[in-house]
Parts: sequence; C-alpha cells; structure tokens
Amino acid sequence: MKPFAIAVHGGAGTIARAEMTPAREKSYREALEEAVRRGQDVLQRGGHALDAVETAVRVLEDSPHFNAGRGSVFNADGQHEMDASIMEGTSLRAGAVACVHNVKNPVSLARLVMEKSPHVLLSGMGAFEFAHRHKVMLEDDQYFFDQFRYEQWQRTRGTDTYQLDHSDEDRKYGTVGAVALDQQGGLAAATSTGGMTNKQFQRIGDSPLIGAGTYANNRTCAVSCTGHGESFIRAVAAHEVHARMAHGGLPLVEAVRQVVHEVLPPLEGDGGMIAVDTNGHVVLDFNCTGMYRGYAMGGGAVESAIFR
Ligand code: ASP
Repeated sequence: MKPFAIAVHGGAGTIARAEMTPAREKSYREALEEAVRRGQDVLQRGGHALDAVETAVRVLEDSPHFNAGRGSVFNADGQHEMDASIMEGTSLRAGAVACVHNVKNPVSLARLVMEKSPHVLLSGMGAFEFAHRHKVMLEDDQYFFDQFRYEQWQRTRGTDTYQLDHSDEDRKYGTVGAVALDQQGGLAAATSTGGMTNKQFQRIGDSPLIGAGTYANNRTCAVSCTGHGESFIRAVAAHEVHARMAHGGLPLVEAVRQVVHEVLPPLEGDGGMIAVDTNGHVVLDFNCTGMYRGYAMGGGAVESAIFR
C-alpha cells in the first residue's frame, strides 16, 4: 500500500491548561479524532485527498466546539460571517468563500466554487446567491447561536478590539482545517472559520486566501493555518512553507519551523499550522500555548493533542 496520511486542527491560541477539565479535553479530542477517522476512512479506501479533507472539515464544522460552521463567533454587528477554502495539489485548482452566512458547511461551498464556477473566491451576497443556485444546505440564525459565543462577543462589543477565538477565557476554540496525502500521491488542504470575535463587518482573514491560510502543491506539501489572520496574510504563510521546500530544498519539518517560529512572530503572528508532504510526513507546529490537533499516518492509530 502506498503511503497516505491526514491531519486536522481545531485552532490554536493561548489555551489555559488550568481551565481545561478532563471532561472538556475529552470532548474536544473526541471531535478531533472523529474528524481524523472519517478522513482516514476515505484515504484507506483509495479515495482522494480532496474528499478526505472536505469530509474531515465538515465533521468539525458541524461540532459546536469549534469556531467554524455551527460554532462560528459573532462579528461586530452580531452576525456570523464565515470564510473557507479548499485546494488540491495535483492541478492546483482551488475554491474559496468569504463573508458567507447561514451556510451549514462553508468548506463544501468552497469546493463548489472550485468545481462549478470559473472563479476561485466568491464573497458575501454573491457567494450566498451561488449557494442558493447550487442548493447548498442552509441553516437559520438559531442554528449558529451559542450562548458562550454571545457572551464572548458582549465583552468586546462596541469596542475596537477583536480577538482570536481561542485566546478567550470562555474556552470555545478555533478555526478548523485538514491536510491529506492520498494513495495516488495527491495532496489537498482545506480551512474553515468564523474568523475573530467582534471582527469588523465583512473583514476577511487568511483562511479563505489561497497561499495565506491554505495551500497544496503535489511538488511539496499541503498546509492549513490557524491564528491571527492579518499576520498570516502578510507572511503568505502557507505558500511560504511550499516555497522554502521547492526553492530552498528544506524538508517539511524545517520549512514549517521557520515560518511558525521565525517568520510569523515578528508580525505578531500567534498561531500554528498543520502540513503533510508527498511522503506522508505530518507536521503540526505552533508558537502559542496550544493547538487542537489530530492525525493518522496510513491505517495507523488516530492521535490527538492540545498542548505541547
Ligand atoms: N485565522 C483565522 C482568522 O484570522 C482565525 C483563527 O485561526 O482562529 O480569521
């Protein structure tokens, strides 16, 4: 059997170990492991990396634990605006959506943009109209309402501050993503988020930007990022990992280390990323206290972790 691998993340940030009860940790890790397992099943049956990452991200979007899909945070206007993207490394096709609302699984809408439109990125009402046309599953506002998220927003409401979801003490953690290598040697990456609490109306982060929050190229690797989006955009973080491998000849682990620990910190780029290369090596690295993450190599055991 050829190598295959999948990794997922559920956000990174200043996660307070003292506030993480065993029960809470268990439920987060179960959700992460379920996402890995569902993606691993796709790969084990010989399925494509693109299907594996979409499947894994949908599991996390449907969980209220994470800041994506159902669990998305509130923006400054008290709305949920979601960003998502997906890319496959064989043909470098990509699709993304920004500032969408009421869409149950933004990652699948991003995939439709890739497959059913001549464009890469659709935003706002244009993306919503496209979702309608393609009969994408929608949910009413109540589906996205969460008391914790609401209280989290009340603490920043009316101020100019916005915050990384996972750096808030209410412990409702972050953006989700997945990367995979399939048995045909194909790589894919996907990322989905509700963004940052109290973000300005129609603010767009790194998650839907190909090269910043998401990138996949069969020459090198697939990458999905999480963290302070503005910094990841300025660092073109996901593509930077690819570039250091393609042009500098670095192995994946070193390329990720340089971007996470050397390139991002001077830009106040708190966060992390997950990545997989063409040999199925998985790297999950971050420059803050924790990152919700999980992975499986081949048909092996599903692993998950939060802290270092
Ligand atoms: N990167 C996301 C954004 O800036 C936030 C996150 O990863 O939690 O929208």
